[in-house]
Amino acid sequence: MTIKDPETIHDVEGVPVHNVHRHDVVIIGAGLAGMRAAVEASDEFDVAVISKVFPTRSHSGAAQGGIAASLANEEEDHWEWHMFDTVKGSDYLGDQDVIETLVKEAPVVVREFEHFGAPFSRTSEGRIAQRLFGGHTKDFGRGGPVLRACYGVDRTGHVLLHTLYEVCVRNQVRFYSEFHALSLIIEDGECRGVVAWDIVNGGVHVFHAKTVMFGTGGYGKVFKITSNALANTGDGLGMVLRAGLPLEDMEFVQFHPTGLYLQGILVSEAARGEGGHLINGKGERFMEKYAPDKMELAPRDLVSRSIQTEINEGRGINGEAYVYIDLRHLGKEKIMHQLPQIHELAWKFLHVDCVTDPIPIQPTGHYSMGGIPTDIDGRVLLDGKQIPVKGFYAGGECACVSVHGANRLGTNSLLEASLFGRRCGKSIIRYLRENREFSDLPADAAVEAIKMVKRLLSSDGDEKIGKIREDLQVMMTGKCGIFRNEKQLGDLKKELRKLEERYANVRLDDKSETFNTDLLEALELGNMLEFSELIVEGAYARKESRGAHSRTDFPDRDDGEWLKHTLAWKKDGKISFDYKPVTITRFQPKERKY
Ligand SMILES: Cc1cc2nc3c(=O)[nH]c(=O)nc-3n(C[C@H](O)[C@H](O)[C@H](O)COP(=O)(O)OP(=O)(O)OC[C@H]3O[C@@H](n4cnc5c(N)ncnc54)[C@H](O)[C@@H]3O)c2cc1C
Repeated sequence: MTIKDPETIHDVEGVPVHNVHRHDVVIIGAGLAGMRAAVEASDEFDVAVISKVFPTRSHSGAAQGGIAASLANEEEDHWEWHMFDTVKGSDYLGDQDVIETLVKEAPVVVREFEHFGAPFSRTSEGRIAQRLFGGHTKDFGRGGPVLRACYGVDRTGHVLLHTLYEVCVRNQVRFYSEFHALSLIIEDGECRGVVAWDIVNGGVHVFHAKTVMFGTGGYGKVFKITSNALANTGDGLGMVLRAGLPLEDMEFVQFHPTGLYLQGILVSEAARGEGGHLINGKGERFMEKYAPDKMELAPRDLVSRSIQTEINEGRGINGEAYVYIDLRHLGKEKIMHQLPQIHELAWKFLHVDCVTDPIPIQPTGHYSMGGIPTDIDGRVLLDGKQIPVKGFYAGGECACVSVHGANRLGTNSLLEASLFGRRCGKSIIRYLRENREFSDLPADAAVEAIKMVKRLLSSDGDEKIGKIREDLQVMMTGKCGIFRNEKQLGDLKKELRKLEERYANVRLDDKSETFNTDLLEALELGNMLEFSELIVEGAYARKESRGAHSRTDFPDRDDGEWLKHTLAWKKDGKISFDYKPVTITRFQPKERKY
């Protein structure tokens, strides 16, 4: 077989490859990272964006609270202060050279959004409004919280995502909506495209490209209680591992303090930024014990641990696994004006009117600090350290550049996705100016992907996808959640192997090719099983507590041994590790107190 000619239908192992498409740039993911890169690169080159959900349904659109930039629109602020907060928030694991870039370019990126037409909330003088968020402080933490989060009511992600989509349409970016990417095509250290499944019509498509960028987002769905969308299954990480590339710092997973009880749906940090209180079963504002200075506006890792400790020690509401976030004292007008979506979500999902009653909340799986190792220009690193894979880029939540280190500050992620998406776009342009020709597609480009789909469609074992996924989520939450220890992680390692064996013995009830959600869920579960082991093995290996990684058997941070990034590979089912140093420029590590 050959898959050289565009537009021809081919037969690979008895399965038709319906089409071969060609674009200078193929981006997987239509969140802020993917679409910001598309806006940039489409100024000069032919760009296609592939997304398994309709672009504006990407999880970026669910972001509520804000995007950080030291605009100083409402009070004094400086990029150095933003940098200090981000470094300290990261528990000193963030690379300070990239953090400096993040905070210096933040105002540019936010103003560009304004020029694209994003409808930000405004100050009375008509400037972009800014609100408080956890861990963002004045004067290197000496002067209390600072207004740094730019926002559009409590729908910030929604307004930014829609703005980018409109600019993409204007720039004639080609969207392949409802295509599920299956595998990367990498040959001789160069990325030459991707293989994807057409969800609506069925069938395998090959996308031949000069450059590929991943903006495939996070993987909250490996946890039972999560704020993440159904689509957040970390497919990009699975594809990268199968291509033999490493992942970085996978043990660092953020649990957001305030998810609606039992639902996980987010109550944005904006609720605390606007003045919300956390209350335990004894009616106490318990953050006094854990972060007397910053109270509810301490960073997320600390607040989540505090809530979980209250619950574990029996001080949840009525002894149950939740506490309250109380907004009542803010008054109806402020709630309806600044936090209308939170009011709506609490009402719709818990039947609580937060104007008159406190909202039951618990910590919820939220954000992945780790991911695909890249350099400051978004180039994916073959060895995780220095050597780029030619023509392959990643940005946003799927990538690890690493600006968040061991713990991300709220509002730094919309910023990272947009800013490094933009940097990926610029770096793709530089690459394409030098590399104008398509490299050949390898003849076997689609074979592995086709085998994977074929195996699932013809599967007739006795395991169900939904049951394995449920077991995975329950185990990951119970044994690799906010608090971890050697015994539970050790057990979990073995249990995950068993889940992989069960996955090899699944049966899909739906064997059709068109809109087969059974097939999609099976592909997603395959990816989640692929990288969950790295989260657990990384957490098992890291014998310290840092940021969101909290080991009850090693409660202290250990800079002597562990001030380093984890790199992990998975080849033929075997996991191997390497480590690389953290880049430290301005701020030497010190004890992290709030
Ligand atoms: C509820 C919620 C609220 C948040 N609030 C904030 C906030 O206020 N401020 C902040 O800074 N951060 C916030 N975050 C985090 C932030 O929103 C995300 O980290 C960021 O938006 C991720 O952007 P992204 O472009 O990397 O990925 P996403 O927006 O998640 O997009 C991923 C894209 O990849 C595509 N994709 C994935 N796999 C495949 C595949 N196999 N084939 C084809 N396409 C695929 C999807 O279709 C989608 O288009 C929040 C997150 C959540 C969940």
